[in-house]
Amino acid sequence: MDEHKPIHIMGAGLSGLAAATTLARCGREVHVHDIREDSGARFDGDFQALENWSQPFDFFDQLRDWGYDPAEFKATEFSVIDLIHPDDEITQPYTDGIAYRIVERGTSSHTIDQGFKRMALEAGAQIHYKNRVKEEDCDIIACGPKGTSAVAYGEIFETSHPNHIGFQLNDKLAPGAYSYLIVIDGIGLICTCLWRKQKKSERFLNETIAWYDAKYPDLERKPIKRVGGKGDFTINSRYKQNGRYYIGESGGLQDFMWGFGMRMAVWSGHLAAQDILGKCDYEKEVRRQLLPYVRTSVTNRFLMNRVGDGMFKRMCNNWMRNQKRNGDGLVWISKLFRPTWWKTLIYHMVSPFMLEKDSKAMGRGVRRMPFRKALKRDVWEQSDEALEVGNRWNEARKGGGKTSFAEDSDSPSVPDS
Ligand SMILES: Cc1cc2nc3c(=O)[nH]c(=O)nc-3n(C[C@H](O)[C@H](O)[C@H](O)COP(=O)(O)OP(=O)(O)OC[C@H]3O[C@@H](n4cnc5c(N)ncnc54)[C@H](O)[C@@H]3O)c2cc1C
Repeated sequence: MDEHKPIHIMGAGLSGLAAATTLARCGREVHVHDIREDSGARFDGDFQALENWSQPFDFFDQLRDWGYDPAEFKATEFSVIDLIHPDDEITQPYTDGIAYRIVERGTSSHTIDQGFKRMALEAGAQIHYKNRVKEEDCDIIACGPKGTSAVAYGEIFETSHPNHIGFQLNDKLAPGAYSYLIVIDGIGLICTCLWRKQKKSERFLNETIAWYDAKYPDLERKPIKRVGGKGDFTINSRYKQNGRYYIGESGGLQDFMWGFGMRMAVWSGHLAAQDILGKCDYEKEVRRQLLPYVRTSVTNRFLMNRVGDGMFKRMCNNWMRNQKRNGDGLVWISKLFRPTWWKTLIYHMVSPFMLEKDSKAMGRGVRRMPFRKALKRDVWEQSDEALEVGNRWNEARKGGGKTSFAEDSDSPSVPDS
């Protein structure tokens, strides 16, 4: 690439801003274009977890090695979690180190999005918000999800409960996936993920919140807003095509099983910038460093799609047994995410049937995990407690509580409220 040619990046999210920072620091003229009014606006105050188990090294050390300063955003470290089994038993995986860090997504100054935005601006990148550009006119495509493979909905609330995390495997409340509770410094989030497409999906969130209200009575929630969005899970034949780099979720670089994507977003942004600076071959490095993990997650997702609460319970029990043996809850989860020869084999066997071709992907050979259909067991009526949760949210909404995901989600699954 001509060294004097300005670089145009489509999308001012984590991956785009990471690439912009590295390039601008090396003296390149960088323009980042985003259709929204600010970085993080897609998420509006959502809490997300930066996992710290899929690699043998700490993610913040990785960030520092790449030249990104984790002190630019607020991150709360956790070494323990409430693991909520499908039969409501609660156990606690723990580690001596850092299992994960919770960050906030959005437009407030302490969010990870604004932290990366500051780094990009300080490096000299120019960001153009509310600006629509064509893919053909950009060098780096970093615009997040295009299609929908899964959705997640959550409610943000005020609470006086101490900082806490719960992770629940429950196929009724979160079809094919999981729900979670996060409390950080007086603000809570209860979220449910739907890996099967549902009608009246608001009931899943209401029922999930009612479940947490019953089990964690000290939450005493005061609803503020509802957040969420869609996830796009794709495998690409090429990550660089016609001189364009596809990074982050635009390149399908995230975890198919549970949707962790922030780490790979920054990682791929860094790699694309290194390629442009002549220091590596992006296609080769994505295949070497990231794709083995993505493929492993495809296999994990394939297996998860075939099970229900019975297997979820066995997973929880295995996890706890493994912790007893090793004295560390991260060993089991790390193994789940790491590539093995048999998961690679399963990947090659099942991915041709599991993924659908995206004919609009400009010849890049994109195959998407389709949003699966609902099952018979997904049809049920809300409990009285869940209806009450819905009524409380409607009151909050009338008082100004906003829903941030309606325009961003798959329309048949957008909650009715
Ligand atoms: C509800 C939810 C919860 C999640 N929780 C977690 C979690 O706990 N941990 C985790 O690791 N991952 C999580 N993820 C996934 C994670 O958010 C993504 O993998 C990550 O944000 C992808 O980064 P990105 O840079 O590719 O896209 P983003 O950070 O989403 O940035 C994309 C940017 O592109 C802009 N854009 C979109 N279209 C265009 C266009 N046409 N032109 C210009 N700009 C455009 C958007 O406005 C946005 O600013 C979650 C996702 C969702 C939806």
